[in-house]
Amino acid sequence: MKVYHVAYLGYDSEAALALESGLKQAGFKFTSLGADSEGIRKAAEIQPDIIIWDIGDVREGQVKIPAEEMKKAGLEKQCIVAVVPSADIEGAIQSLASGAIDFIFKPLKDSPVPRIIAALNTCQKKRRIDWYSRIIEDTNNQIKGILATMEDPAYIVSPQYQILYMNRAAEEIFGEGLRGGTCHHVFYDRTEPCEVCAKSKGPARWRAVLKNGKSYRFISAIIRNSTGEIEKLAVGTDITPDEEVKKIHRTFISNVSHDLRTPLAAIDQYVSIMLDGLGGELTDEQKQYLQVIKRSSFRLHNLIENLIDANNILSGHFKLTMEVTTIPQILEIVLPRLKAQAEDSNLTFQLSVPDDLPPIYADKARIAQVVANLVGNAIKFTEQGIVQLRAGFMPRDEGRIIVSVEDTGIGIPKEDLGKIFELFYRVEKDKVYVEEGAGLGLSISREIVRAHGGTLWVESMEGMGSAFHFTLPVQKGLRV
Ligand code: ADP
Repeated sequence: MKVYHVAYLGYDSEAALALESGLKQAGFKFTSLGADSEGIRKAAEIQPDIIIWDIGDVREGQVKIPAEEMKKAGLEKQCIVAVVPSADIEGAIQSLASGAIDFIFKPLKDSPVPRIIAALNTCQKKRRIDWYSRIIEDTNNQIKGILATMEDPAYIVSPQYQILYMNRAAEEIFGEGLRGGTCHHVFYDRTEPCEVCAKSKGPARWRAVLKNGKSYRFISAIIRNSTGEIEKLAVGTDITPDEEVKKIHRTFISNVSHDLRTPLAAIDQYVSIMLDGLGGELTDEQKQYLQVIKRSSFRLHNLIENLIDANNILSGHFKLTMEVTTIPQILEIVLPRLKAQAEDSNLTFQLSVPDDLPPIYADKARIAQVVANLVGNAIKFTEQGIVQLRAGFMPRDEGRIIVSVEDTGIGIPKEDLGKIFELFYRVEKDKVYVEEGAGLGLSISREIVRAHGGTLWVESMEGMGSAFHFTLPVQKGLRV
């Protein structure tokens, strides 16, 4: 069994004796030393489990337990219990304030053992807490060390939005000496906390243009300081080059697609004139060549319109003409063409749309465009089998319409599933299999569905087929 060692540092032989007899009886080891630097040095040598410091007969003046001196001498893990002359309440309070965890009045009337055991227990807990705090402090210092060397801005704020730390990159943007200010004011020139920060209790993401004119994507995480208080750490990534490249892309796409429209319209028009025989008699072979030109120019026309569409979405020029409508009304616009397309490809086209679907509030042409894109893809990527278009009602939330397009086609590899909604993304091997398409349709469709307050997602297994689903909210008050 462990024998606890108690060191008494003081000059009161009566108190020392009373402590010694009480503690030794209970199986403690006891050493009596002077309450001075020499006593502290000796105590550091023997490393007792607890120190009893006699404050002496101090009736006036400040009681100061030399806790710091003891720590420096090597008595770091020991707790201190003060011995205080009885009725010296002031002395007892001062000894606690200057580093003791408990006190005992002298002359000792009762056994000191219960008080010492309680102090040992508290001391053990305190040591554990100190240990955890030190780990947290070390970790936080390491984090700050990493943040200090980063090129991107990072800062730590309190739950009251007060800036506690800024790294060099943040100081280079905002200036130094701003700690203590509120983040929304210093970083974003706002009088109120930013919405994302006020709302989120956990990690958050946002984008912001900072005072240096650059765009940043921020992520934040909750951390704790060594006293257990919650703080928020935010780190920004400079995405300005991205934005600039995108802007160049957008201008380029916009210019090129608009410039292509006019000559293409002329080609289309003159091919039609020639096919109608207005330019003179044509042989069958010549007619066939012209049909190929017409089909190709139609595909080019679609591609250009898609590019212009995608560009408008990217630059935020995206307006919806909303009206109360129904899924069957929307399908009327595209179904004849899609059915014919499926037939041309020798595919079975199945349609399952209940008559009693609630009406929705939507841009008919845009939702028709989404359906056409999904069914078009299903046909394009299915060699044989079935293409199915289904619609239904989901009572979740305020009520949603779900439209699903399923096929028995080539499917989509797992690693591509997350990427097919990105602009210009096409699954690598499809480029060989189907030369049509520029990887625009799905990103446009997803934006259209999002703009309606819905979601577009995919389920697929390579070699088995794909199912694309999109939902549209039933407008409040329109539910049947
Ligand atoms: P694209 O004009 O190339 O079809 P999309 O954005 O509509 O552009 O689709 C992106 C890519 O997603 C396609 O190139 C194809 O690789 C894949 N994809 C889309 N729909 C299907 C489907 N039904 N089956 C298999 N792959 C598909």
